Amino acid sequence: MDRSRFTGWGAFVEAPGFPVVAGPCSAESREQVLSTASELSRRGIRVFRAGAWKPRTRPGTFEGVGEAALEWLVQAKDATGMKVGTEAASAYHVKAIISAGLDFIWVGARTTANPFLVQEIADALEGADIPVFVKNPVNPDADLWAGAIERFRKAGISRIAAVHRGVTSYSRIIYRNDPCWQMPITLRLRFPRLPMFCDPSHIAGDRRYVDEISRKAMDLDFDGLFIESHVNPACALSDAAQQITPEELSGLLLSLVPKETDCDSPSYHESIEQLRARIDEIDDNIVSLLADRMDVSGKIGGYKKENSVSVLQGSRWDAVMSRVLSRAEAYGLDKDFIKDIFDRIHRASIEKQENC
Ligand code: PEP
Ligand code: MN
Repeated sequence: MDRSRFTGWGAFVEAPGFPVVAGPCSAESREQVLSTASELSRRGIRVFRAGAWKPRTRPGTFEGVGEAALEWLVQAKDATGMKVGTEAASAYHVKAIISAGLDFIWVGARTTANPFLVQEIADALEGADIPVFVKNPVNPDADLWAGAIERFRKAGISRIAAVHRGVTSYSRIIYRNDPCWQMPITLRLRFPRLPMFCDPSHIAGDRRYVDEISRKAMDLDFDGLFIESHVNPACALSDAAQQITPEELSGLLLSLVPKETDCDSPSYHESIEQLRARIDEIDDNIVSLLADRMDVSGKIGGYKKENSVSVLQGSRWDAVMSRVLSRAEAYGLDKDFIKDIFDRIHRASIEKQENC
């Protein structure tokens, strides 16, 4: 992680260790908010979250207590000195949050997927430069996520962080949401200075997996965790299965070692430099082999044209692919990875032959 991404964030990230936003999924009662906040604060957490309005998939489930929760959050802030915030999904929420004196908002996954709502929230924030945590949309669309971040930037918000919480999956997976790590990686390449949090609770959907997902996030150079914690998870009114106690959170944080993006050791540098030189050499060979392959494809295209033979012959391609995949297997390479690469090579080769 790179702390310089948090320039200007002050007390939000001053705690030792790495930045953590923690608290219950929902603010359920004054007692639950105050006791969870105090247990977390005792363990060094400096930023507290709790949902006032809850975007539930089905009606008839607990939809949050609404505005009443804002007062409990302010009481938690007064009692602990923590920064406190909640989810905003409309201009009405933003106004209520600002007039109650909360310190930050987050934009939920269902809201990020809707540019009208994102713009409405960005407009409502005008003049209130509080931090905005933007969760990824429920669908795997990094552009939609980037677009929401751009809307807040344009509205003059100076402290924006992305929160990765996985995406809806159509296949059976052990987690509630597909981690789809490619999405935060794409966003990082687009906005290298943007702080990026991981929300392991909503990816996991089950507290048994919160640890492994948090560790993976450290390996992928996330800057912090945005995590659900409740004093009595089993009795939580929403997301009961994925919340952990403040004590469990503290144990998890102690066991996590944020990774550095570099290291001072001269032997590390020497080995990395040698390996990188080797990678560059291999990449040059790959490009030169691809160029040779495309030349051969062009020649084949020429013969096919002279002899009025169609460019595409399905059976030939099936044979090429099965040969390549059995080779790949012998080398211990992942079949899907090799299949993706050769599908792409095949497409380029067909285009080349068509243009002969
Ligand atoms: C939440 O953080 O409680 C929440 C509703 O998250 P998401 O928008 O990621 O589902
Ligand atoms: Mn939740």
